[in-house]
Amino acid sequence: MAESVELPGRLAILPFRNKVLLPGAFIRIRCTSQSSVKLVEQELWQREEKGLIGILPVQDAAETTSMDSMLSQGVGSESGERSSNVQVSTSDAHKVDGKNPSEVIHWHNRGVAARALHLSRGVEKPSGRVTYIVVLEGLCRFNIEELNTRGPYCTAKISPLEMTKSEMEQVEQDPDFVTLSRQFKAIAMELISILEQKQKTGGRIKVLLETLPFHKLADIFVASFEISFEEQLCMLDSVDPKVRLSKATELVDRHLQSIRVAEKITQKVEGQLSKSQKEYLLRQQMRAIKEELGDNDDDEDDLASLERKMQNAGMPSNIWKHGQRELRRLKKMQPQQPGYNSSRVYLDLLADLPWQKASEEQELDLKAAKDHLDCDHYGLVKIKQRIIEHLAVRKLKPDARGPVLCFVGPPGVGKTSLASSIAAALGRKFIRISLGGVKDEADIRGHRRTYIGSMPGRLIDGLKRVGVCNPVMLLDEIDKTGSDVRGDPASALLEVLDPEQNKSFNDHYLNVPFDLSKVIFVATANRMQPIPPPLLDRMEVIELPGYTAEEKLRIAMQHLIPRVLDQHGLSSAFLQIPEDMVKLVIQRYTREAGVRNLERNLAALARAAAVRVAEREQAVSVSKDVHKITSPLLDNRLAEGAEMEMEVIPMGVNNHEISNAFRIASPLVVDEAMLEKILGPPRFDDQEAADRVATPGVSVGLVWTAFGGEVQFVEATSVVGNGELHLTGQLGDVIKESAQIALTWVRARVEDLKLAAAEETDLLQGKDIHIHFPAGAVPKDGPSAGVTLVTALVSLFSQKNVRADTAMTGEMTLRGLVLPVGGVKDKVLAAHRYGIKRVILPERNLKDLVEVPADVLSSLEILVAKRMEDVLEHAFDGGCPWRQHQHSKL
Ligand code: ADP
Repeated sequence: MAESVELPGRLAILPFRNKVLLPGAFIRIRCTSQSSVKLVEQELWQREEKGLIGILPVQDAAETTSMDSMLSQGVGSESGERSSNVQVSTSDAHKVDGKNPSEVIHWHNRGVAARALHLSRGVEKPSGRVTYIVVLEGLCRFNIEELNTRGPYCTAKISPLEMTKSEMEQVEQDPDFVTLSRQFKAIAMELISILEQKQKTGGRIKVLLETLPFHKLADIFVASFEISFEEQLCMLDSVDPKVRLSKATELVDRHLQSIRVAEKITQKVEGQLSKSQKEYLLRQQMRAIKEELGDNDDDEDDLASLERKMQNAGMPSNIWKHGQRELRRLKKMQPQQPGYNSSRVYLDLLADLPWQKASEEQELDLKAAKDHLDCDHYGLVKIKQRIIEHLAVRKLKPDARGPVLCFVGPPGVGKTSLASSIAAALGRKFIRISLGGVKDEADIRGHRRTYIGSMPGRLIDGLKRVGVCNPVMLLDEIDKTGSDVRGDPASALLEVLDPEQNKSFNDHYLNVPFDLSKVIFVATANRMQPIPPPLLDRMEVIELPGYTAEEKLRIAMQHLIPRVLDQHGLSSAFLQIPEDMVKLVIQRYTREAGVRNLERNLAALARAAAVRVAEREQAVSVSKDVHKITSPLLDNRLAEGAEMEMEVIPMGVNNHEISNAFRIASPLVVDEAMLEKILGPPRFDDQEAADRVATPGVSVGLVWTAFGGEVQFVEATSVVGNGELHLTGQLGDVIKESAQIALTWVRARVEDLKLAAAEETDLLQGKDIHIHFPAGAVPKDGPSAGVTLVTALVSLFSQKNVRADTAMTGEMTLRGLVLPVGGVKDKVLAAHRYGIKRVILPERNLKDLVEVPADVLSSLEILVAKRMEDVLEHAFDGGCPWRQHQHSKL
């Protein structure tokens, strides 16, 4: 740093546009404009000893407005100084570095004398223009007395502004100055120590701090900061050392603060970074260790294998791109990061879905398919025929968009097993999707991935499980879906079953379309009525009404018993269930349309037999002959004459082999006593109807439920009261109205039906009527109980028993007409099951009897009713009371 400098009275002036050189600062400039090159050449280059030049800040007109106000508010006002600007229009003045000549610029009236420390000259090619690079050192402030802008470059008459030595000594005594210096030193030291920590460059500055006077240090410090032009000007104008020190203290402090804030931020960022870097490092180490151990199952390999899996999944190109995007995101994540797992699971699903993988389609052999169906199922001739027709159409036109098959019928009639037989006949995989109780649309379509715990819908999940894109998919219990606030699953199913739309089925979780058009859908339902009509419209309904006792017997003998025995590790060599006993099981223990309970009861027999066989065997010591049996179970395990060892049966060992191991002399034959012992006392008998109808006021109706046809008893009784009708048995509105109609009809015909003495015209006088439908816990509704209700009431009032062997069904009008009802086939089958001999049907239902198996029909007497009187005629022994009346008249 230069000590005090002798300034000449006149100095060449180099203007600095929007920049200030402060004393003590160094600057390197490149002079290219004509005037500056001239100046450098004449004042510095051509001089023997290094000369001095004046550096004067100049300012564009645009920037002066704010400056003016600032300056006039008194930079350096403490010392009573005022700055003023010299305004020169460049049109007649010196041009500043080739800027727009029409611009008005402002010359500051204070500058800094500078000494050139280094000069270098260059010649531009090809123009030959000379340029200079100059390194200048700021020395001291001066004031412009007079500026001369004429000539090749500016010159100015100047006066020095720095204090003399004695003046400075005086100021140094000033207590204000001392305090300010101390403050400045403290803050400067702080800054230096921070810089020292960061850059290890503080040492040199520390020396400066000890050797230089503070007013000079103030300039040097400020010059090294990046501060605004206005603040630089302000610093230049701070001629008074006290003002300068306080200004510098302020600026250093501000710089210090900003360093601290920046440091805090970096520390925070570094903190986070270092944590993840640490994790990364540890992970790398772990990987290296695993590699050493030959255990390469780490995340990266995991992701690589996921990528490979995705590549092999055969996704369409747009979905592959989508998957890649997601995978890239996943790769950038740490496994601990939230979202990593869900992203991973999602990509796994994408990779696992059978985009193209299909079961190989065999040429469909209709004969073989028919054999397959016949082999798995007894009877069902028409249904099998219908399935074969459906398959034949598919064979002729594989892309035919035929309707979806829907099997409707009571439980246990073989709907599911028919669907799986279809799959087997086609050589395709089979998957069952249970829709029972599905109320949420998301169950079909999935949840969006934004939800926590989101999942794909059941269809996509099913396809993932089955692993091929062309399975036979059974939509089980499609009538049990319901809609509520969570949407309507049926409408989502509409899309699934619509061949136009299911090409690009959109699962919300998957979020990319999936082609369902290759899937063969088959639906099942217990009842048709709850299926929404648009859905029903897409399906071809095939009804399975239920089996007759004879059919059940055949199914049991041919299919159920062999299967049950096999499932329990038995064969006919161990357990025999004679036909008579199966018949008894059907009659006494099951009263259902299907064969599920029958199968369950047979299984119970088989279980009991298995226990007995096993128990008996355990007691018997195994002889050498048994040892010879080629059973893997017994190999080398039995010492001669030893008691048999029990062994854990390995999976996959054929059940028959196990049975062979337990071979006993004679098979166990089920008899009646054994039936009762195992299945308990009989649950049903043919006497039931007779017992229940033994008193007047009870009639036998036929109703239709989700479990097929059922026999429904109606009980009526009268008690002392005031003419009210009480109804019990969980009845719906329709059935309640039927009861009203029935009562009204009977009351209106008291005389005709001879139900009361001549003088007693109101049946209900002093009486209440109570009608009950057992079983009380099962909800009932529908109009078909009309005729049964009337019969019960007539029986009650006439005190005549209804025939126990007669069941009836039919809706009744107020005028006594009998209207047709639905489900006749099921109802007739139910009557047959109950051992009913006569069935009264509405006349217009006669046509429905063609669907009833002939053997059932032949065992029943079908009685036709057109009017209510016809029903009564058939229901009572000796005919309707009204007819009797007429007969007696004749
Ligand atoms: P659903 O789906 O109608 O409720 P399933 O298909 O589950 O009934 O059938 C119940 C059981 O009855 C199955 O083991 C099935 O094989 C058997 N089954 C039903 N009908 C027949 C039939 N006609 N022939 C042979 N087995 C049958």
